[in-house]
Amino acid sequence: MKLANRTIKTSESGLDALFAATSADVISFAGGYPDGQLFPTKAMQAAFNASFAADQGTLLQYGTTTGYTPLRQKIAARLNRLDGLSLTADDILLTQGAQQGLDLTARLLLNKGDGVVVEGPTYIGGLAAFDAYEPTYYEVPVQSDGLDLTSLKKVLLKHEIKFLYTIPDFHNPTGTVMSVEKRQALVQLANQFDFIILEDAPYRDLRYSGERIPPVKAFDTEGRVIYLGSFSKILAPSLRLGWLVATPALLKAITALKAGADVESSHLVAVAVDDYLTHNSLDAHLDTLKTSYAVKKDAMVQALTQYMPKAAHFNNPEGGFFLWLTLPEGFDTEKFMLESLLPEAKVSFVPSKNLFASKSVINGARLNFTNVSVEDIEHGVAALGSALSQALAQ
Ligand code: PMP
Repeated sequence: MKLANRTIKTSESGLDALFAATSADVISFAGGYPDGQLFPTKAMQAAFNASFAADQGTLLQYGTTTGYTPLRQKIAARLNRLDGLSLTADDILLTQGAQQGLDLTARLLLNKGDGVVVEGPTYIGGLAAFDAYEPTYYEVPVQSDGLDLTSLKKVLLKHEIKFLYTIPDFHNPTGTVMSVEKRQALVQLANQFDFIILEDAPYRDLRYSGERIPPVKAFDTEGRVIYLGSFSKILAPSLRLGWLVATPALLKAITALKAGADVESSHLVAVAVDDYLTHNSLDAHLDTLKTSYAVKKDAMVQALTQYMPKAAHFNNPEGGFFLWLTLPEGFDTEKFMLESLLPEAKVSFVPSKNLFASKSVINGARLNFTNVSVEDIEHGVAALGSALSQALAQ
């Protein structure tokens, strides 16, 4: 069978081996899942029931590609209230999760070989979405306060790029937040060098400490920021519901691409989520999530402080799902995990290599704390600490 070139890269992520080896007796820090115990199952069930009860015959019918207007209005109002934007429903397209926003943006902008700036490291699913359009990647390091703008400028002076992909809030995989100053400077660079910023913000509402800061979109002066949000991490991923904010002209083109991809996101789900938001406080639900995740994050930081060898460094993120572990230069975290940590200590994480478009950094690891119990965090980190100490002593 002759597959298209774009399919080749998707099989190379190396994560298959990791997930194949993961079983019930493994303490997994590798996943990126929300805690299933915290899903608002009853309230969501009531929202679906109420939607069926109120149905006048349209609930199971096709809706529109842009998506259910009352829900788009609620999303716009929420972003206006919390993030100082001034949006209406017309600025918003409902998507099947933020993931579809990544695909549609790449589809909108990329011809084969076009330049894309990605953070190093970045979300592996972003690379998977963009790979299909065969771009040329330019990788810019992520620092503790976000993208390294000095490196970015060097890239921009030498290469033309179509868009820059960033996860400014509680970055996947490092957990870092881009500073306000960098957000402003990034928009100025986009204006100067004529590129689109793809701002992916699925963790934005999950801040455990510190002050909420405006999204990059809030500094957008020329309509260059495409902003993605999602209900996956704040309600439930199986809803497959997210949103994309862009200027009317871009939104029109993206909506046409979405029509060709999947016609529309589920109208049934959109109506039920709208009902949920009408009869429940999302902010109160977020408080529940944040309280629980903050405890887990603190437990992980405390265990790492206690059990990590001196040569290992880690951060203490202010929100999100992940923290980032750095081992000495040259230490291969993928090899360590697949050959020793997973089979012997029964602990897993995501090694750094495949989270870099360049595959050049092998000594990092992403640790998830949201979908692991506090007890497992303590046991898993202790086991990781002793396995690492042994491996580093060799
Ligand atoms: N972007 C980032 C940074 C993510 O971490 C994820 C999920 N892991 C997604 C997008 C996709 O999420 P969804 O499609 O479920 O909204």
